[in-house]
Amino acid sequence: MISSRGYAAFTPKGALAPFDFERRDPEPNDVVIEILYCGICHSDIHQVREEWGPSHFPLVPGHEIIGKVLRTGSAVTKFKPGDVVGVGVFIDSCRECAECRSGNEHFCVKAPVWTYNAEDPRHGGFTYGGYSNNIVVHEDYVVRIPPGLYLAAAAPLLCAGITTYSPLRHWKVGPGQKVGIVGLGGLGHMALKFSRALGASHIVQFTTSPNKRDDALRLGAHEVVISRDERAVMAHAGTFDFILDAVSANHDVNILLSLLKRDGHLVLVGLPSDPLAVGAFPLISGRKSLSGSMIGGIRETQEMLDFCAAHGIVADIEQIPIQKVNEAYERTIRADVKYRFVIDLSSLK
Ligand code: NAP
Ligand code: ZN
Ligand code: ZN
Repeated sequence: MISSRGYAAFTPKGALAPFDFERRDPEPNDVVIEILYCGICHSDIHQVREEWGPSHFPLVPGHEIIGKVLRTGSAVTKFKPGDVVGVGVFIDSCRECAECRSGNEHFCVKAPVWTYNAEDPRHGGFTYGGYSNNIVVHEDYVVRIPPGLYLAAAAPLLCAGITTYSPLRHWKVGPGQKVGIVGLGGLGHMALKFSRALGASHIVQFTTSPNKRDDALRLGAHEVVISRDERAVMAHAGTFDFILDAVSANHDVNILLSLLKRDGHLVLVGLPSDPLAVGAFPLISGRKSLSGSMIGGIRETQEMLDFCAAHGIVADIEQIPIQKVNEAYERTIRADVKYRFVIDLSSLK
């Protein structure tokens, strides 16, 4: 076994603290990765706090992983020691269903094996994530980090990046379109950068935080609307082609539906704990669509990373040592992060 050191949550309410554990020895197609950086996604906090249901403790969160290949199993062909690689939100899937075979492993009919807080059907036990010094992953679930990206700031691409890139591509956001982004956090700020790089004609950032206005403009918004100002919001009624909702807390989506044009799309990526209350009228009038989107497959994640390298896109980050993780959680919950915390795992030593 490989000894690992990380930070774990031991209860939903308690602080994360040091935790020693073991990972499997590499199988023929496994890659052993030394973790350099790991982003803090709001999904980590939702799961530690059991906001989506029961979690398995000790829980080592972290699914925005950048690392260096330490060694490889005997049959690995895609990677060699020294390669800089990424691991995202899942580390395995059934590999046999139509979704897995078509590159949509994230929609695996048997469910992907999440990077942490998940039972590992192939190896037994539970998965442990990236707030740790190493990880062992099958090569088919590892992506290559293209040269030229600032590594710490590339970590959030593995979740916040792909989660926003995928729907923007799927709904073909681009020139001629008016696009809204709701919530300027880790996901929201990546959505701004991607919408701008894809050439959307008018991008409006909706935020509850007036102090983020200048940043939103710098990150790619053409216009910023304070979402608690109902008059300012309703001035945009019926005008959007596409709105991406990246809010982590419970909120009213009916107002957002009313901002869409005929045949417009509201796409949810945020995962608040409560069920949505959607009125029929805002949906039927104007034949609007309410959809959701979840991360992306391995192939699309690699495509997104290559797109980022070509366009010079990384996250705006606040780099922290692991000892500050609990403070970072509190600040993220207060929407006070500019715009992603990334843990430097060298601080574990
Ligand atoms: P984050 O960095 O904490 O950003 C969330 C933002 O939501 C905040 O910065 C804030 O932006 C806004 N917000 C917070 N409370 C609000 C409220 N009460 N009303 C309106 N807006 C509020 O979180 P994140 O990491 O970007 O994740 C966002 C959500 O996406 C989380 O629920 C996460 O679990 C989910 N997620 C989903 C996927 C997927 O595959 N679909 C992947 C990753 C994460 P302002 O200050 O601008 O208002
Ligand atoms: Zn995430
Ligand atoms: Zn499958």
